Amino acid sequence: MSFDADVAVIGVGSIGSMALWRLAGRGLAVHGFDQYGVPHDRSAMGGETRMFRSTSPREPVYVSFAAASLTFWQQLEAETGRELLTLNGELVLGAENAPHIVNVLNSVRAFDLEHELLDERDVARRYPQQRMRPGDVGVLDPNAGFLRPELAVLTAARRAAELGAVVHTHTPVTHVEPDADGVTVTTAQRSYRYQHVVLAGGPWVQRLAPQLAGKIQVRRPIQVWYAADDPAAFAPERFPITLRPEDDGFYAFPSVDGALVKAGPTGPFKQIVPDPDQLDRTVGLDEVRGLNEIIRQYLPGLHPDPIRVSAYMDGYTADNRPIAGWAENTDRVVILGGFSGLGFKYATAFGEVGAELVTDGKSTFDLEPFAPDRELMAWPDQKREG
Ligand SMILES: Cc1cc2nc3c(=O)[nH]c(=O)nc-3n(C[C@H](O)[C@H](O)[C@H](O)COP(=O)(O)OP(=O)(O)OC[C@H]3O[C@@H](n4cnc5c(N)ncnc54)[C@H](O)[C@@H]3O)c2cc1C
Repeated sequence: MSFDADVAVIGVGSIGSMALWRLAGRGLAVHGFDQYGVPHDRSAMGGETRMFRSTSPREPVYVSFAAASLTFWQQLEAETGRELLTLNGELVLGAENAPHIVNVLNSVRAFDLEHELLDERDVARRYPQQRMRPGDVGVLDPNAGFLRPELAVLTAARRAAELGAVVHTHTPVTHVEPDADGVTVTTAQRSYRYQHVVLAGGPWVQRLAPQLAGKIQVRRPIQVWYAADDPAAFAPERFPITLRPEDDGFYAFPSVDGALVKAGPTGPFKQIVPDPDQLDRTVGLDEVRGLNEIIRQYLPGLHPDPIRVSAYMDGYTADNRPIAGWAENTDRVVILGGFSGLGFKYATAFGEVGAELVTDGKSTFDLEPFAPDRELMAWPDQKREG
């Protein structure tokens, strides 16, 4: 039986573009499919910047993914001459006994990661843009910073194409059918045959992976840009990524255009997206009021009235861990999905996971926490909840 190529990557977004590059770099014949252009602005990858960090305010398992991702990000930069990652540091703020501070400190101590623990006065002196609460501390991760997501996706896809990959843009895949000998991939135009498939469909992934039905909830985080009184004070050299992941918390990026500072809320998500084809891109005033107040409180050098707003979406699992591994009952289809708001920084490592599974049948990464068949609560009916 003949194949159109060795592997197809379905979804050439954040993770899929990296899988495509890692596969093409191994000399495999690879096809990528995306329903939109590569990159585009209608899913998880938009909004100019994404945080990268070496530490982990969530779970220690991510530390090894961060280390590998950093190596691969730097490899992609070296292969293409494009600057994608700026390591200007990250400041995680909060009460000394807050779970995210405890987790970050545990991860830096367990893995002997470079860091500085700053008290309230240290932070106020070194970063006068920040307003601290009495008793707050800051953990500075110098090996953190920001990625340029749209440029990174474009760069990886272009590099993969240079290495021989073929990318079908504006080509939605409607069906993926594995069998004993390979996988049939169907689009509106025709069917293709591959030895393996990597499913990296982001917010749409469960449509092509029936075993995930109900297990990924698509949510709509917003991002908000504020004008700075003194833009130079928010330049990357002076203003590290800031993260205060509390219910009334926020994150903020340095200014990448010399004028505006992007921020977002870290509290519980309010909006669920019942149908990712119908993402509501309009951000209402009521959605940003809470963040405006948070910005007024913690970053007084910003005008707390938004200049720009945007909405994107990501797929969330009930345990907030990605899904990475073989699909049910087949060693032909790899699933990489449900990145739960944390996936971009690790996109190169998870792309490598896809390439390893396809070429070696196993991964050098610990994938147990991410197993597609792990006990994963199904979300309530998303239409009713939305
Ligand atoms: C607002 C926001 C801020 C975030 N901030 C951070 C951050 O600072 N740091 C961080 O690490 N992470 C962050 N994340 C999370 C991170 O961006 C996501 O986890 C990651 O981008 C998910 O990548 P993905 O490849 O799964 O999805 P996507 O990048 O959306 O890619 C999926 C692709 O699949 C395509 N596709 C789907 N179905 C089909 C089909 N049937 N046929 C063809 N193509 C298909 C889509 O068109 C899309 O291009 C953030 C997410 C959001 C939304």
